[in-house]
Amino acid sequence: MEASQGKKPTAKRAGPAKKRTRRLPRTKYTQDELREMFRRFSIQRPEPKGELAHVNPFTLVVAVALSAQATDAGVNRATRDLFKVADTPEKMLALGEEKVGDYIKSIGLWRNKAKNVIALSQKLIDDFGGEVPQTREELTKLPGVGRKTANVVMSMAFGIPTMAVDTHILRIGNRIGLAPGKTPDEVEAILMKVIPEEYLYHAHHWLILHGRYTCKARKPDCVACVIADLCKSKEKTTSEPAPLVPLPPQVIG
Ligand code: SF4
Repeated sequence: MEASQGKKPTAKRAGPAKKRTRRLPRTKYTQDELREMFRRFSIQRPEPKGELAHVNPFTLVVAVALSAQATDAGVNRATRDLFKVADTPEKMLALGEEKVGDYIKSIGLWRNKAKNVIALSQKLIDDFGGEVPQTREELTKLPGVGRKTANVVMSMAFGIPTMAVDTHILRIGNRIGLAPGKTPDEVEAILMKVIPEEYLYHAHHWLILHGRYTCKARKPDCVACVIADLCKSKEKTTSEPAPLVPLPPQVIG
């Protein structure tokens, strides 16, 4: 499912090498600092993955659509059995809204989400031959699929570099001045511009995982942070970076 790095992002890239030390617009970091930050993330997590369990692009769309205002772990618990019986739009339709609801009752807003899962399955069959489309424009036509979900699917299912800004990335972008912005769209636009191209494909997972496990919402765990010396947050509690070692592989599901 994971694709390799190297696809060209569509966003305009930063300037030539001689301007490396200049600050990029609306980030507090120079290109050298950004390169060093993501180099460290790449050593810490060489193959970062999203933590939503899925078996194909369709189940990924469903899992991401279910994940609004829910944890990945909570969604995985609910979809473990659902995806055993319904891993295609046709099987999901055959299952029906009521039974889908029974599987996902532990997730917030489950009634509406069950409705959307059935509606998006129907739309995939009617308009896309039962296949998940690859463009943002087409993906966001599916019921319950917004820009963030489309970005996740484009990246994880099709290997297209995108920046799906969730609560963690929004927080980190503002907390450390990486991409200060009021809305996810603003933060996304800045990150797509300033993240070095060679790191762009994995960047959204690195940032999500950094936010989930280290730069946490209530209390950032700065002593465990590999970018503590680079970080420009007023909230940081140390400037001593944690040892840069690869972390154990993620366990999904
Ligand atoms: S030093 Fe602290 S505030 Fe800065 S990125 Fe690391 S965990 Fe977050």
